[in-house]
Amino acid sequence: MDYGDSTRSVKAVGRESIPGAPVAPVPVPASAYHLSADEAAPLDTYGRASNPTWRGLESGLAELEGATWALTFGSGMGAISAVLRVLAMPQTTLVVPADGYYQVRRYAAEYLAPRGVTVIEATAEQMCEAAGRADVVLAETPVNPTLDVVDLHRLAAICRSRGATLVVDNTAATPFGVQPLSLGADLVVASATKALSGHSDLLAGYVAGCHPELMAKIERDRLLAGPVLGAFEAWLALRSLGSAGLRIDRQCRNAQAVALMLRDHPAVRSVRYPGLPDDPSHAVAVEQMRRFGGLVAVELADAAAVHALVQRSELLVAATSFGGLHTCVDRRARWGDPVGDGFARIALGIEDTDDIVADIERALT
Ligand SMILES: *Cc1c(COP(=O)(O)O)cnc(C)c1O
Repeated sequence: MDYGDSTRSVKAVGRESIPGAPVAPVPVPASAYHLSADEAAPLDTYGRASNPTWRGLESGLAELEGATWALTFGSGMGAISAVLRVLAMPQTTLVVPADGYYQVRRYAAEYLAPRGVTVIEATAEQMCEAAGRADVVLAETPVNPTLDVVDLHRLAAICRSRGATLVVDNTAATPFGVQPLSLGADLVVASATKALSGHSDLLAGYVAGCHPELMAKIERDRLLAGPVLGAFEAWLALRSLGSAGLRIDRQCRNAQAVALMLRDHPAVRSVRYPGLPDDPSHAVAVEQMRRFGGLVAVELADAAAVHALVQRSELLVAATSFGGLHTCVDRRARWGDPVGDGFARIALGIEDTDDIVADIERALT
């Protein structure tokens, strides 16, 4: 049955049809499990190896990503660094986004490069060309925060032709926006801290894929390095997954409406949103995205204009991170992103569309 995204979202929370079993998921915060005298290994033995609450979340995430297997981690960086430790061996060439999430390229530069990995930083536009020289490509789309869209179909074909592994960071789009595995990616990595859990109250990450051997190596790294997700965070993320379709739908609708308003506003120098018909990434976005995401990139006059926007608004929250209930504004130059001083990422929340459009429009004038 081909269900809609909110239905898939609800189904991802799981449904044990055992009479008397709770409808809601239950956290299992155990670190140790009973062993048997015959020394046969039960499914769960020790909390760093496995946890029943992880399994509920993992099967929901695998379902949403169209994967056969998902592994949860204590944060998005926990997931990404585990994948890079497994794939980026000494003597290999790794491509990471030059314009994407900055801590990924910092990890590559500070940890992998000194261990003999050749690290190439490429912008979304340079990704396909750089992939022609790579063993491992980590791409991000839409790239956070500038929102260029990478043509995953084309990138996957280049990677496949030279036997390179393609990993896609699906944090910004979420599986409700794009399903990279169906477009040819080998692995999806993501932060579930953002829109998937959606309440700004936990950190989590995951890896999803269909190659059993590769996924087993990543699971082994999680066991040995130990960047595991706490049982309570897993539980909160799982119960939040049920409303993810609904929340992300609203965030995307709000982003489209706010982007349209900003495009015509005299205080705005430029705006990027893949859903705008005249956006440079729109054509690729229409081909591969089911929704255009909850992030809008806007360029105002200067840093003071971004701060004034937040101060005059009644709804905007100044915060980094995105995908939560509140609409957040983040001036990215503060974190060293290669963008102008007046560049702000607006991460739409789930407020009523008319309210958030009117509030931002008013606060800009
Ligand atoms: C936030 C983010 C990460 C890191 O996730 P954490 O959960 O904060 O570790 C990675 N990639 C992208 C695109 C992000 O936005």
